[in-house]
Amino acid sequence: MSPTEPHQLPVTRLTGIGSQTAARLQKLGIQTLQDLLFHLPQRYQDRTRTYPIAGLTPGTTALVCGNVEYIDTPQRGRNSVICRISDASGLLSLRFFHFSVQQIQQLRPGTQLSCFGDVRMGFNGLEMVHPEYRILHAGDDPTETSLTPVYPLTEGLAQSTMRKAVRQALELCLSHADALQDWLPTAIRHHYNYPDLVEALLTLHNPPADLSAETLANGELPALKRLAFEEFLAHHLALLLGKQHYKTWQAPTLRVNSAAKQRFLSELPFRLTAAQQRVIAEIEADCSLAHPMLRLVQGDVGSGKTLVAALAALAALSSGYQVALMAPTELLAEQHFRNFSHWFAHTGTPVFFLSGQVKGKARATTLEALADGSAGLVIGTHALFQDSVNFHKLGLVIIDEQHRFGVQQRLALRAKGQTTGKVPHQLVMTATPIPRTLAMLQYSDLDISVIDELPPGRTPVTTSVVPSERRAEVIARISHWAGQNRQAYWVCTLIEESEQLQCEAAENTARYLQESLPDVRIGLVHGRMKAADKDAVMQAFKQGDCDLLVATTVIEVGVDVPNAGLMIIENPERLGLSQLHQLRGRVGRGNLESYCLLLYQSPLSETGRQRLGILRESNDGFVIAEKDLELRGPGEIIGNRQTGQIQFKIADLGRDRELLDDVQTAAQRICREHPEAINPLIKRWTGGSLQNLDELFHTVYSP
Ligand code: ADP
Ligand code: MG
Repeated sequence: MSPTEPHQLPVTRLTGIGSQTAARLQKLGIQTLQDLLFHLPQRYQDRTRTYPIAGLTPGTTALVCGNVEYIDTPQRGRNSVICRISDASGLLSLRFFHFSVQQIQQLRPGTQLSCFGDVRMGFNGLEMVHPEYRILHAGDDPTETSLTPVYPLTEGLAQSTMRKAVRQALELCLSHADALQDWLPTAIRHHYNYPDLVEALLTLHNPPADLSAETLANGELPALKRLAFEEFLAHHLALLLGKQHYKTWQAPTLRVNSAAKQRFLSELPFRLTAAQQRVIAEIEADCSLAHPMLRLVQGDVGSGKTLVAALAALAALSSGYQVALMAPTELLAEQHFRNFSHWFAHTGTPVFFLSGQVKGKARATTLEALADGSAGLVIGTHALFQDSVNFHKLGLVIIDEQHRFGVQQRLALRAKGQTTGKVPHQLVMTATPIPRTLAMLQYSDLDISVIDELPPGRTPVTTSVVPSERRAEVIARISHWAGQNRQAYWVCTLIEESEQLQCEAAENTARYLQESLPDVRIGLVHGRMKAADKDAVMQAFKQGDCDLLVATTVIEVGVDVPNAGLMIIENPERLGLSQLHQLRGRVGRGNLESYCLLLYQSPLSETGRQRLGILRESNDGFVIAEKDLELRGPGEIIGNRQTGQIQFKIADLGRDRELLDDVQTAAQRICREHPEAINPLIKRWTGGSLQNLDELFHTVYSP
């Protein structure tokens, strides 16, 4: 594609777009004409017909025509101008708070006006506040032939500027046959009854007057579906391509040493579940091949993923290769470090630890051991894939709690194995169950295993939804609970996405709870504490020297204290369901009964109520994830989990999820029948994010 193709031209080529407007458009991610065309209206206004004034109802938005009857200029004590207009059916007041002398002069009685605005009930009957109005001359028709788009804007950018720019871009693309080529193969387009690309864009930017507002608002329009479909398809293809590419590389063949494995299992205080055994077998089979494994293990909280990882590690170690396990938080990395140290003690393999907190001599020693190969097993945070870390013979990379890491980080860690001329196998584990269709899109570059069984003897957590007015009761319950020598968590959720505020809130809560509960031993952990302090608090809690742990969502993943069977989550309405489920997974770890109280801030919205209800009714992470997706409104972002996930321009995983199955079928068909469309589609849609992926694949893996 040459950069001079019309749709690739910079927006500054349009009349009326100077450098200042271009800078504002850039804030919306718009640089080229194509970007502009893919910037869709958020809603539409209907100016295709005029309404008789008598037919207006408050709360609607309408176009009316009328004669100015009189204009009431401001007097002392009142700061608005009221102009009354009439048509054959009735009278309407127009109210202006800002006005110029010239404006008042224009609105002389007898002047014919068209007005567009929101209708409301005023003191003197129906009125419009600051309507858009135009003075009509004989023969003027105030109506428009298509619905008027309303675009998302940014500071300093006028709706009219945006409309004019889009109109020009559309005209330009219509007048050049080669502009904005439709890369969705015709056969596929016809199969799903989709309009072609330009037609779809025309419909969305200038919808015909007969389209119902409802069809437009609920995203059912084939024109919109087509674009969402194409966008999903492009991302899916990019990931598939990445996977294919990766699978052509060489990886070490790892062989399971049965004796070592038997010994390892015999040291455990329990037997593997059937699901764990099945997934371990899948991993071992992958790793025995000369091509890299790329496998995602999904399993609900507490399903025993860590042990699956440990057995994969054992296979790599007994084949003479190094293993790196990366966790998303310091806390979780430390916990894995302790578990692995314990599990591998009998093997004589030392376990190393690396995080940003490991500094000075300790760091230097670890880096050296990794580089010369004397360290076989290392556990840490993302510090593991910094440039300064070199491995001698990395054979397996394990990433825990995948949803925290993006595609990019996944790739960067894969690249670490290169020194051997081979790339490492990669195992990714996530405790946030992803609905099947969604997983197929987000993780098309991975094969998927599911641990669909919990170890025996777990008692399900009883969840209640409690309004914050009953806080005192909840606090009394903690005192009673601690009196029975059981432990509890109090989780303070995210405030305004600011870690600092979140930590302050946790500090205040801990102080307040301590005042209310003088006999309860309260500990506090949050993300801004020093690692050593955090560790001390966690250890105290683990050993039962602390009854109540007040925490931010840092404790969400991994923390394992079976005696802690009560969790209070404050403001649960702020978090996504999967995240809440994950948090709740901290309790119910032993065989004692356990409880989770969702202490919400009332009033709760209808969706909020439904959401929390799902959590009360189900303990199954997969069910919860499906329902969460169903309840998601278009464009709604829940929690702060979007980092690392694919960002879509037009498609919406909630609204458009029913397309995902077809996307998969279409992708296979394109790979078979229309390979020439693959690259242009990927380029068109994944520009910023996945084009980088492609580059990464090439720079990192080209021999
Ligand atoms: P998750 O899948 O959430 O990461 P973990 O790996 O932390 O779960 O396991 C949760 C707990 O269950 C740990 O204490 C672990 O030792 C224990 N566990 C793992 N597998 C089994 C099993 N087969 N039987 C009994 N307990 C198990
Ligand atoms: Mg885990």
